[in-house]
Parts: sequence; structure tokens; C-alpha cells
Amino acid sequence: MLYDVIIIGAGPAGITAGIYAKRANLNVLVFEKGAPGGQILSTAEIENYPGFKKTTGFELASSMFEHLLELGVEVVYEEVTDIMSEENIKKVVANQITYETKAVLFATGAIPRRLGVAGEDLYASNGISWCAICDGPLYKDKEVVVIGGGNSAVEESLFLSNIVKHITLVQNLDHLTADPKAVELLKKVKNIRFIYEAKVKEFLGQNGLTHVVVQTKDGEEVIKADGVFEYVGLEPVTSFVKNLNITNQQGYIVVKEDMSTNVKGIFSAGDVNQKHIRQIVTAVSDGAIAIQNITKYLESL
Ligand SMILES: Cc1cc2nc3c(=O)[nH]c(=O)nc-3n(C[C@H](O)[C@H](O)[C@H](O)COP(=O)(O)OP(=O)(O)OC[C@H]3O[C@@H](n4cnc5c(N)ncnc54)[C@H](O)[C@@H]3O)c2cc1C
Repeated sequence: MLYDVIIIGAGPAGITAGIYAKRANLNVLVFEKGAPGGQILSTAEIENYPGFKKTTGFELASSMFEHLLELGVEVVYEEVTDIMSEENIKKVVANQITYETKAVLFATGAIPRRLGVAGEDLYASNGISWCAICDGPLYKDKEVVVIGGGNSAVEESLFLSNIVKHITLVQNLDHLTADPKAVELLKKVKNIRFIYEAKVKEFLGQNGLTHVVVQTKDGEEVIKADGVFEYVGLEPVTSFVKNLNITNQQGYIVVKEDMSTNVKGIFSAGDVNQKHIRQIVTAVSDGAIAIQNITKYLESL
């Protein structure tokens, strides 16, 4: 079977692209290696997606994915591990099976960046989490440390503040960089302490995580922590496509306005792209633009 387009990733960008592709009568296949919905599944509340004044990441992800399935789009729950680009045919490898397609759309998104300090690997997913909505309830009435000061750190701290006993938020800058409205709300929270201009040095514990060592302007501080939530930026999911030479130095895919890359027939959409704003609305917009231009590309073959 030769597909018109294979979409890699079923986050907001990939789901939107799947919907647009099916409606454009393209023969489309979507791959998803995890749970459909991507990063929004680790988002507690969403208040900036038009049409949904206040929703949860889970609800939005579920309704987006239902929309895709209702149209009859074929989804394969496997990780794509390799892509080979020949003149007009691309080969996509997943679970040792090779699928052939005329065009490929990357919508592989991004994953949380790690700090890379001592103890992080030891306590990863066992004391240190990157998802408050998934793991927050484990720390009911306990003390947690949130690391970061951008939108994710601030929004997820708001969510955690209703569950945990106390939050210490550690930020490397002298201020929070999240949206002013969210910052204002967090500043009103009673069970939070902010430590600015501080860097995490180490995670400590004997039988499980117990403390975070932080270097502040005034010296070293050892903070009690039953759990830690890290929000220090993102990394694009592109390590498996290094051979295509379509990424910048940071690993983000470089695209033109029409979402095409420098390899004919390979397009990319969403957070994985080199761009300024990584949000649901920009991801879905990229997905729609990409399919419009993939359709034109297919007509030109
Ligand atoms: C904590 C948090 C809070 C956020 N809050 C908001 C908010 O309130 N409002 C907002 O607009 N945005 C928010 N965002 C950002 C928003 O979630 C992202 O911009 C959006 O999800 C990007 O969509 P995407 O489809 O590009 O990528 P992703 O959501 O990252 O989805 C990519 C998908 O591709 C899959 N994938 C990756 N590699 C492969 C592979 N090799 N094979 C198969 N599948 C693969 C992944 O499993 C994933 O499902 C938040 C993000 C986080 C982390």
C-alpha cells in the first residue's frame, strides 16, 4: 500500500493534520507511540483554546482524538524509528515494518528538558515528575518543589496548590516569566514560597527522594521535598531523523511558511518546528497549513 501522507505523532498538530487530510480525501496514516493528545495530556487546565473557556488537557485531547477516529483515519500505535527519503517515495519504519508514502508530516512535538544534575536520573519518575496532572495527587498534603518560572511551572503550581501542603518554587531568574494573569493568581496562593535566582545542584534521599539542594545568592539551601516537578523547557523529538538534515542546532525542524522542509515531500508541524510560540493554537494551525501544502505537493507529482 502506498499512502499519500504519513503523519508521525497524534498531538494537536498531528490530529489536526489527520482531520484535514481525511477531509481532503487523502490516503492518510497516523503513527502515535504514546497516548494520543501529546503534551496536552500532561496539562491540568487549559483556558486559552478558543471555544473552550475552561477545559482539562484530558478532555481536549479526548475530543480531538475522537474527531479524528470518527472520520475513519487509520492510526497505528507504534513508534516511528526511521525515515528514508527517495525521490518521490518515502519509507517510514515502525516496529521493523516499512510503510511507503508519497509525503511525510512530522508532528512529533517536544518533551520536557532535564536539568542534568546529580540524583535526577535516580529519582526520575520516582520522586521527580514532569506532569502535575498525572502525579500531583500522589503528593496530597505533602511538600513539593516546583522548578521553573514559565507558563508550565506557574500553571501547574496553581493546580498543585490545591492538592499539596506546601510548594517551594525555585526559579533561576529574578522574576517569573509566565503570563501576567497566571503570575497574579499564583502570587495570591497561600501555601507557596518563591526562591529566585537559584539553581538546583542536587537531589538527595536515602530510601527515596527527600531533599533538593539549591544554590541561592545567599548560599546553599537544602529544601525538604516529598516530590519535585520540573518545568525547565522543552526538547524537540527529532533524534531519529538526524540523517535527513532538516533540523537546526537545537534539534528543531526548520520549515518554510508552507511547513515544507528542505527535503522534497517532507513537511513538519507543531512544537517540533523552529518557531517562537509553542501552543495548542499554533500547533493546530501548522497542521492545517501543512496538509493544504501537502495536497498541492501531491498534485505536482
Ligand atoms: C505542562 C504543560 C502545560 C501546557 N499548557 C498549555 C496551555 O494551557 N495552552 C496551550 O495552548 N498550550 C499549552 N501547552 C503547550 C501545548 O501542549 C503544545 O504546544 C502542544 O501540545 C504541541 O502539540 P504538537 O502536536 O506539536 O506536539 P505534542 O503535543 O508534543 O505531540 C506530539 C506527539 O507525537 C508523538 N510522537 C513523538 N515521536 C513519535 C514517534 N517517533 N513515533 C510516533 N509518535 C511519536 C508523541 O507521543 C506525542 O503524542 C502546555 C504544555 C505543557 C507541557
